[in-house]
Amino acid sequence: KTRVYKFGNKTADGNSKMKNLLGGKGANLAEMSLIGIPVPPGFTITTEVCTEYNLLGQEAVVNMITPEVEKAIENIENIMGAKFGDKENPLLVSVRSGARVSMPGMMDTVLNLGLNDEVVIGLANRTGNERFAWDSYRRFIQMYGDVVLGMKPESKEDIDPFEEIMEALKHKRNIELDTQFTVQDLKDLVYDFKDAVKKRTGHDFPTNPYDQLWGAVVAVFNSWNGDRAVYYRNMHGYPSDWGTAVNVQAMVYGNMGDNSGTGVCFTRDAGTGENLFNGEYLINAQGEDVVAGTRTPQQITKIGSIRWAELAKVEEDDRLANYPSLEELMPTIYNELNDYQEKLEKHYKDMQDMEFTMQDGKLWILQTRNGKRTGAAMVKIAMEMLKEGLITEKEALLRVEPNKLDELLHPVFDPKALKKANVIAQGLPASPGAATGQIVFFADEAAKYKSSILVRIETSPEDLEGMNIAKGILTARGGMTSHAAVVARGMGKCCVSGAGALKINYKNRTLTVDGHEYQEGDWISLNGSTGNIIEGKVATIEPELSGEFAEIMELSDKYATMAVRTNADSPKDAKIARSFGAQGIGLTRTEHMFFEVDRIKAMREMILSDTVKGRKQALDQLLPMQRDDFEGIFEAMAGLPVTVRLLDPPLHEFVPHALAQQKELAEEMHISLEAVKSKIVELEEFNPMLGHRGCRLGITYPEITEMQARAIIEAALNLKARGIEAKPEIMVPLIGTIAEFESQEGIIRATAQKVFEERNDSIEFLVGTMIEIPRAALTANLIAEKADFFSFGTNDLTQMAFGYSRDDAGKFLPIYIEKGILKVDPFEVLDQEGVGQLVQMGTEKGRSVKPNLKVGICGEHGGEPNSVEFCFNTGLNYVSCSPYRVPIARIASAQAAI
Ligand code: ADP
Ligand code: MG
Ligand code: MG
Repeated sequence: KTRVYKFGNKTADGNSKMKNLLGGKGANLAEMSLIGIPVPPGFTITTEVCTEYNLLGQEAVVNMITPEVEKAIENIENIMGAKFGDKENPLLVSVRSGARVSMPGMMDTVLNLGLNDEVVIGLANRTGNERFAWDSYRRFIQMYGDVVLGMKPESKEDIDPFEEIMEALKHKRNIELDTQFTVQDLKDLVYDFKDAVKKRTGHDFPTNPYDQLWGAVVAVFNSWNGDRAVYYRNMHGYPSDWGTAVNVQAMVYGNMGDNSGTGVCFTRDAGTGENLFNGEYLINAQGEDVVAGTRTPQQITKIGSIRWAELAKVEEDDRLANYPSLEELMPTIYNELNDYQEKLEKHYKDMQDMEFTMQDGKLWILQTRNGKRTGAAMVKIAMEMLKEGLITEKEALLRVEPNKLDELLHPVFDPKALKKANVIAQGLPASPGAATGQIVFFADEAAKYKSSILVRIETSPEDLEGMNIAKGILTARGGMTSHAAVVARGMGKCCVSGAGALKINYKNRTLTVDGHEYQEGDWISLNGSTGNIIEGKVATIEPELSGEFAEIMELSDKYATMAVRTNADSPKDAKIARSFGAQGIGLTRTEHMFFEVDRIKAMREMILSDTVKGRKQALDQLLPMQRDDFEGIFEAMAGLPVTVRLLDPPLHEFVPHALAQQKELAEEMHISLEAVKSKIVELEEFNPMLGHRGCRLGITYPEITEMQARAIIEAALNLKARGIEAKPEIMVPLIGTIAEFESQEGIIRATAQKVFEERNDSIEFLVGTMIEIPRAALTANLIAEKADFFSFGTNDLTQMAFGYSRDDAGKFLPIYIEKGILKVDPFEVLDQEGVGQLVQMGTEKGRSVKPNLKVGICGEHGGEPNSVEFCFNTGLNYVSCSPYRVPIARIASAQAAI
């Protein structure tokens, strides 16, 4: 087994396909070497060695790879004509980490490794550049001290121990920039740095180059299990057995003087996607100087430089004298770099993010990778590369990360304003977008300010209206599938949920974070994409729905075979979803319509009355309202199917819990307050999720089903009279047995028949059911005998298959995920292994009796790309998701079909 892969001098043992073994950086260094791009020679120790290291420990692994590493070093020495650790003609190397995917902040690089008190003199003599040699040495001690020897700040208030020494010297010498240090200063720094290391660690700084090398290699391996890396891995669900590779590479020096420098560049604009080569560089600099922000970096292209000067308000003469572009300053190098960026983009067929260094007029490329980009850039680059003939239609579609489309669908903060923002706490990024407003603590006060942020410990269905009015929603409790989160996503409203650091006091109307108190009316801002809670106002900008976005959606329709419907409870949502390309409604929750002020009263009267007659009277009031709602929704979806679910939640959710409202209701109904109260107590359930809800309501109170069926059918007939086609699909919730379905189906069909006779007209409609109780999935063949369609309600199905109450799962799910008991939240990503079997079985059993049975899914999972792919593989006819996720599901559906 090979554990060390060499590259350099236009050859390489590896290539870009070997990312799992060589890490992204190592694989691309090998590839660049193969295609003739000048990369400093080096070698990659594989990710497998990292795993071996974790099993066998340092000594065993070092012994095992020493022969291979020594040979590889010899190879570098031959190419570079210098010798590692040599006192006359020294070779220095960098030691760089590199996992399969780039993991920011995982591991810092060590540059200039191989220096000691003697070698530094050799380097100075050989190059004739004493300043450069000592600058490299002080950088090396600093980086090695930090990364390998643990010379970190002692507490979070302290600054880096080496920076502290440098700051003190700058102060003493009355200078500002590192470049102003004299050779003597640099020598002093080296001395003081080593002294600080000795004091802090009790050991001398290692002088033997091989000791230094192994120290750095092991530090890279260790960093794979460091806190930052573990956190990042968990966040993205990367397994811990991937490991990291280690790249050891000959140093090239950007700090050799005015003919040297270093920079980073992108083949296209990562923010907008514009096809414009761009980047930054610094003369006489090394490594991360460009991004460190201590000196103002210069632009690579002339056009970029002119644009920059405009923004920075720098006059043209000043620009030319002090901040010229690389294109202007070093045209030959620029042209060469420009050739390489073109070549690399064509080769990888994707936007590249590159690092380069020029040493005394010679250009070296140190890294290339597919560049990270915004959602807007992602779409634009994919479409433009398609038009340029660089990639195929399928490739363009596969370039789109479905979830990133979210960014294109919500207003966003101005990135410039965000940089200055004061983040006071963080919660879960429950629903993306940007919201700025004044704090309110009660839903019914959301309209108090023009822009308000509803701050709640948690929200309930009663808060719906207020949530709709507020610009954003912030909760202290609840996860990604909490009420607040689900509703907010449905509304396309920014929401940060589960921000545990918030202490909310409803009585005093205060929000306390970290000892700082905010009051009602104070301005805060929420970043729904990061979960950040920001003090004060942050400026927003409207998202640009560029032409390419529409184009790529159209392209997705060419390949997608599974349809995408939407979950919508109002004509407004239906219209939005349709404009995003929804092909119907997969779920209309009728109960949401009952929460509006004038309706909830009639609803409550219905619930509180003891007699069928009383209930019917109240239902008669609700009928015209429901019919109007359905007319609106059917009209917005004219010609497309609309699935309407009959009343589902436990009735207790509709009754008033505040005394004042209870009194009001008692008066209106001409009954005593006591009677109201006792009825409400009667409705309380030990476990409402498994209680009197779903079809159980329609079975105990058939008149409810009757009213709803009538409203649906009448609405459809009214539209027909106006020449508009409505296609209702009536859906019975929470079926566990076929008899339950038959009871409801009977009422629906009989009611429809009655209405047809009354009107002397008819329409086509379907009667189907949700499959959301495991027993329904198990007996799906029986249910399919009668049902026209199935829709998997995967929220409840997940809840019941796992036996996790969705409303209580916030207490243990995060811990489950932290401990690795669950990989992801099953309410967010469909559990294919378990719940997925029920979906598969239900579909198969259903189609075993009705081969053309229409099957869809209407849980939150319908807009989650992995779950969409699963639905496609299971053969579903459609997925249904909230309006703002329709484009995401469309792309995911196309990708599944490719
Ligand atoms: P990261 O993964 O954080 O970008 P890198 O390993 O790419 O870390 O290196 C950090 C910096 O050091 C980059 O600017 C890189 O170009 C520079 N660098 C790395 N190796 C060398 C080298 N052999 N010669 C010159 N500069 C190098
Ligand atoms: Mg890098
Ligand atoms: Mg349900």
